[in-house]
Amino acid sequence: MIFKPEKYGIDDKPMQSFIDPEEIWSFISNAKTDRETIRSIIAKSLDKQRLSLEETAVLVQVTDPEMIEEIKEGARLLKEKVYGNRIVLFAPLYVGSLCTNDCQYCGFRTSNKKAERSTLNREQLVSEVEALEDTGQKRLILVFGEHPKYSADFIAEATKTVYSVKKGNGEIRRTNINAAPLDIEGFKKVHEAGIGTYQVFQETYHPETYKKYHLSGRKSDYNNRLTSLDRAQEAGLDDVGIGALFGLYDWRFEVLSLVRHTNHLEACYNVGPHTISFPRIQDASDINIDTKYLVSDEEFTRIIAILRLAVPYTGLILTAREKASIRKEVMRFGVSQIDGGTKIEIGAYADKKNNQEIDKEQFRINDDRALSEVIDELLSEDYLPSFCTACYRLGRTGEHFMEFSVPGFIKRFCSPNAILTLAEYLEDYAPVHVFDKGWQMIEKNLNTLNGETNVKEIKNRLERIKQGERDIYF
Ligand code: SAM
Ligand code: SF4
Repeated sequence: MIFKPEKYGIDDKPMQSFIDPEEIWSFISNAKTDRETIRSIIAKSLDKQRLSLEETAVLVQVTDPEMIEEIKEGARLLKEKVYGNRIVLFAPLYVGSLCTNDCQYCGFRTSNKKAERSTLNREQLVSEVEALEDTGQKRLILVFGEHPKYSADFIAEATKTVYSVKKGNGEIRRTNINAAPLDIEGFKKVHEAGIGTYQVFQETYHPETYKKYHLSGRKSDYNNRLTSLDRAQEAGLDDVGIGALFGLYDWRFEVLSLVRHTNHLEACYNVGPHTISFPRIQDASDINIDTKYLVSDEEFTRIIAILRLAVPYTGLILTAREKASIRKEVMRFGVSQIDGGTKIEIGAYADKKNNQEIDKEQFRINDDRALSEVIDELLSEDYLPSFCTACYRLGRTGEHFMEFSVPGFIKRFCSPNAILTLAEYLEDYAPVHVFDKGWQMIEKNLNTLNGETNVKEIKNRLERIKQGERDIYF
């Protein structure tokens, strides 16, 4: 059921839903999980073809431990084959915790009387960005509750402020947004302010469950949220991120719905989501959820592996909601971006605050390591940390698709830019042991690029970075 949406705005009639729960459940219940079918689906994905809903349904239905291992191994191979060893780093920056919605899983919800709320003013925002730049961050995601104060103008202004802050060699080169859905005019405004990706998570694609968890406020309108990224496309903002909050409803249904949402955006606008996020519910102030659908670590790993195979050219984001050991474990099954040095209390970066106070935060995070520690571990695990923002700044949109489908794209652009941005980080911010490890990693990766036409030019630029030049990318 693919359709072209008619014109709609926030006040127009909602478009017909592209999520049909009965259809999704019928795919799941009719899935044939014999070994031959499973293997042919994994092979299809490894052949760089995206999977259909029916094929994804087969993967979510597999229970045979041996076959589950083959799915995970397939995802690991695909990640290695397609994306190589790069992991892009970012940090969330919480701007305001006012909220008029009543999402039962969230500490910011309006009915949570324990919540201690605040909004950064311009000066505080600048201090936060400076503190983040001081650790080496180059990519941020600004996060907001939903409130009349956080209008499109407010978000656009915050974005411009973030870009304007330069401290030492520090600067933020890409600002993504996670905030309430906007109307078309609003999306245009934030697009013009130069945002990267606009993320809106559907939380749950299951309408009844959605109703149960979103009791009041604008977010209680399932269809308005579901169609919000169509409005972004209409506004010319084609860089969008989708996500589901795992633990609200059956994870198999949510995985298929994420694939359905991806298909929908691709079919209607020729561009799928840039990223998919898969947060798992964490403890939060005054949280009120049914524990029936909470997702185990093993299921969580499977979710990531299946998403990797189903939508091979979409970025997958794993956050500090998860503890470090789990992040380390699941990363190899297809994650392309992680946050590092994460703090989610408003103002906590500038305050250098290390403890969490649950009533001041949206939820509890479980990986509060400094950015340098996260990078240290990535290097030990043979990943190439990257702060690259080149495609976005050169207007090369759809980069994940290009990485995936354009032969040599990674060797020509992604790996060199990862190397150059890592070198900048090492020169400006790394502790000594990370500095040494990082340069060894750069040498190792240069060796794997040997024979490529631009190795000489990468080495030349590395020298320029050592001499103090910055922001030189391919
Ligand atoms: N207020 C905006 C909205 O709802 O779209 C911004 C989103 S919120 C600040 C970021 C995301 O955090 C939510 O979309 C939700 O998926 C996730 N989240 C909320 N409560 C959570 C919890 N207890 N544990 C983990 N993730 C949670
Ligand atoms: Fe508000 Fe977003 Fe939290 Fe819902 S998830 S209560 S909209 S901040």
